[in-house]
Amino acid sequence: MNHMPYQGWIFEDRQTLDEANISALQNHLADCAECSALAEGLQQVEQALRAQPLLGPTDGFTLRWQQRLEISRQQAHRRQTWLTLLAAMGGMIVLLGALTFLFWPWLKSLDLTLWAAFYQAFTAYLFLSRAGEQFLLALASVVKAIPLPIWALSIGVLCQLGVLWVVSFRLLTNPRRIALK
Ligand SMILES: [Zn+2]
Repeated sequence: MNHMPYQGWIFEDRQTLDEANISALQNHLADCAECSALAEGLQQVEQALRAQPLLGPTDGFTLRWQQRLEISRQQAHRRQTWLTLLAAMGGMIVLLGALTFLFWPWLKSLDLTLWAAFYQAFTAYLFLSRAGEQFLLALASVVKAIPLPIWALSIGVLCQLGVLWVVSFRLLTNPRRIALK
C-alpha cells in the first residue's frame, strides 16, 4: 500500500488541506492500520501537550529564589571564613615552625631548665600540701583538746565583743552627734 501523501497529510494542519484531500485521507485511514495508528499516536501526543498547562512561576517562586540566593551567599561567607581561618592557622603553624627552627638550640637548653622548674614547683606543692595537712591535723587536735564549755564561753565573748564594736562604731559615726556639736 502506498502511504506517501497520507502520512504527510497526517502531520499537516487539517485547515490547510482541501475537502478532496481530507476525504481521501479519511478513506485511507479507515483502510490502513499503519496510518491510522500513526494518526492516533499523533492525536494522543497533541492531547497530552494540550493537557499540560504552561508552567509559570509558582507562588512564592521569587521568595524561594531569594532564600536560595541568601543560602548560597551564606555558604560563600562560611567558606570565606573557613578559608581565612585555615590561612591564619597555616600561617601560625609556619611561624611556629620557623621560630622553633630558629631557636632550637636555645629551646633544647630551655628544656632542661623547664623540667628543673617543674620539679621545683612540684616539690614545693608537695611540701605545702603536707604542711597544710599537718596544720589541719594540729587544728583538729587543738579543737578536740579544748573542752566544750570553754568553746561556748569564748564564742559568747566574741559575740559580745562584736556587738560592742558595732554599737560603738555606730555611735561614733552617728551624723546626729556631729550635728549637735
Ligand atoms: Zn497508509
